[in-house]
Amino acid sequence: MSARGGGQQRRTGGKPDRGRSGPPVIRGRRDDARLADELRNMDGASYGRYKSLSGDWDFGDFTLTIERVQADPFAPPSRVAVSIPADVAGLPDEAWRSPVRRRATADYIIRRAYQTLKGSRLRIDVGGQEVLERSACRIDRGAVRLSLGIELPGHGRRIDGRTAERELCDRVPDLVDALVWEELDPDQATTFADTVEDAVALREALGGLDLVAFVADGAVLPRRSGISDLPMTGDVVSFTSPESMRVTVKLPHRGEVSGLGIPEGITLIVGGGFHGKSTLLHALERGVYDHVPGDGRELVVTKADAVKIRAEEGRRVERTDVSAFVRNLPTGADTSDFSTENASGSTSQAANIAESLEAGATVLLVDEDTTATNLMIRDSRMQRLVHGDREPLTPFVDLVRPFAREHGISTVLVMGGSGDYFDVADQVIMLDGYRPYDVTERARELAAQRSDAEVTPPVNRVIDPRSVDSTARGRSRIKRRDMDVLTFGETDIDVRHLTQLTDPSQIIGVGLALRLLRDEGLLDGERTLSEALDALEERLDREGTDLLGRGHSGDHALPRRFEIAAALNRLRTLRVRATVA
Ligand code: ADP
Ligand code: MG
Repeated sequence: MSARGGGQQRRTGGKPDRGRSGPPVIRGRRDDARLADELRNMDGASYGRYKSLSGDWDFGDFTLTIERVQADPFAPPSRVAVSIPADVAGLPDEAWRSPVRRRATADYIIRRAYQTLKGSRLRIDVGGQEVLERSACRIDRGAVRLSLGIELPGHGRRIDGRTAERELCDRVPDLVDALVWEELDPDQATTFADTVEDAVALREALGGLDLVAFVADGAVLPRRSGISDLPMTGDVVSFTSPESMRVTVKLPHRGEVSGLGIPEGITLIVGGGFHGKSTLLHALERGVYDHVPGDGRELVVTKADAVKIRAEEGRRVERTDVSAFVRNLPTGADTSDFSTENASGSTSQAANIAESLEAGATVLLVDEDTTATNLMIRDSRMQRLVHGDREPLTPFVDLVRPFAREHGISTVLVMGGSGDYFDVADQVIMLDGYRPYDVTERARELAAQRSDAEVTPPVNRVIDPRSVDSTARGRSRIKRRDMDVLTFGETDIDVRHLTQLTDPSQIIGVGLALRLLRDEGLLDGERTLSEALDALEERLDREGTDLLGRGHSGDHALPRRFEIAAALNRLRTLRVRATVA
């Protein structure tokens, strides 16, 4: 194989390998016919010749841009862009005029492109059940730009020009043909955007109704399996709200919808094991995003600043104020300025809460399944045995009410194992056979007096920008491993437990956002972290989210500020310069 490769190289090129710069880029007429000719002529040449194709190719109706060419067949795929002018794409104004519809239409186009590209070497970064803003398709005043990956074909280390020609000169034009408006199934595209627009309207209506979440009647919450995000089929109990908590909202497309309105304050979800408590909470976690038609959760929405809280033993904590939860540690550490390389279950959860509030969360979502019990509750017998200074922890049950009353932080909490939260809950929902019932009155009869602990507002930290470095050996390095790890410069960030990161491409988006925070001087050693996040959001708003991916070839999707902050907080090199009360 290698001997044949060598022979081919001599026959077609004869020149020694030029190293990084590669062969000269093809000049002169650069249209589709020329590209096809060049690819046919390259057949059998050494793989590095693919580099000569870099740049724009004029296909008449659209432009194909070969942006990055892989060095060998085993390197990460090459990147190409397909730019379709507005008059060819034919999207009606209403499909892209508003930012929400633009995001939805782009996402719909990606999903259609993904279907069309099945069996091809061309890849598009298609999403799951959520409709996110992603780099794979951008719409700019009706013009469509797709960003694709392609494994340029080779026979060993020689170019397979025939296959490359088929992919680039046949499949790409077929793709463009399939994506013009009439071919997109305009009714379906419109329904898709309407669905997203309704979800956004519903989420925006929550505040005015003093709600933190809404679950529409008829919604399908359970998923097909623990590893599939598709809706469950078969014996699903669709959602029916208890009448006493039923709210009706008028949406721009669907008109009136009714469902469970979860009010601000403290909401407790109780019920026997396997009755659907965690399923409901998972749906609320995802309710910060919009869902595709047919998902079952299209009209399950949560306030955009709702954050899932859990214990996360082993994480690092950098100068976080956890004094509301933890005092008098056996080490004598100052818990208002607490750092550790290896947090316990309870201190990790305390840090997760403090950091989420610092980043601006106003709703906390908590599930007993993933919490540190000693941070959640302490019953009276345990208090009698371990009391006073022996117990450094103030349980969340003593804090949740002052959080709500004094600081406007709502909590939705799943707790089937203890009645302690009856004392503090504003409303209690019981799930019985996957059906919710309002049991607030009965729980209140069982409640006891409880005195609250004191809560001070979260401390704001100023990050040392030098501690946030996206480079490794002088070059930017942002990669991911599954849904678990973000490699940022020379360090790995454990993002496994950030369950509101829903998409692999969002992990890259988080890395890009961290890079932007540092490289654009938003983390300047003066601004607090929350001010830096504000500045980032404002920049992305003003200049468009393309800013995030500047200089990065590859796919990404837009993350929330909470996941950006969470990744930063888990960066093991992070240094806090100062804290501001
Ligand atoms: P809990 O947290 O109350 O113990 P889960 O939410 O984990 O219960 O749900 C237990 C099981 O029931 C899961 O397998 C889940 O998929 C299934 N399930 C949840 N909600 C429904 C529903 N509405 N219809 C049918 N099955 C459901
Ligand atoms: Mg559960």
